[in-house]
Amino acid sequence: MSSSDTKQSLASTRLRMTALVSAIAIILVITAPIYMSLRAEAQLPDINKRPSENLTPDQSRYLACGYNLKTIRNCLEMYKTDHKGKYPDKLSKLTEGKYGGYTGSMGIPTCPVTRKDTYSASYKVSPDGKNFTVYCSGHNHKALGVPPNRPAYDSRKGIIPR
Ligand SMILES: [Zn+2]
Repeated sequence: MSSSDTKQSLASTRLRMTALVSAIAIILVITAPIYMSLRAEAQLPDINKRPSENLTPDQSRYLACGYNLKTIRNCLEMYKTDHKGKYPDKLSKLTEGKYGGYTGSMGIPTCPVTRKDTYSASYKVSPDGKNFTVYCSGHNHKALGVPPNRPAYDSRKGIIPR
């Protein structure tokens, strides 16, 4: 091997190294935001699962808000069974009647962040009374990167976490 061959192969090795480093950098630039968003998602507890033991206060409040939606859903299902398969036109119907109606003395639950009923204002029923949507109104769970008006519940889709 001549010295010019060695120089040339060194130069091409350097070039290959530079290309490799650039490729790795590009991959990192592309995957970092995906990784970050996956991490953010991992911090959001699953409303449809049993809670894990080590929750932050924000996570606990978010989870409790999601459970509120499921409690409302359960009351709505009971109401529907008693009312010819139709959901009420407003949530307050759940609290009417003997012993606090379908919600009992608890009434419509409150979001643990606002300590207010954030659900009644958002409740919507389809014209035929067979589907509903309800969500936590406002940007109450932004500490966990949750967008406004979430979590939500859709009678066709179930829990919509974010
Ligand atoms: Zn809430």
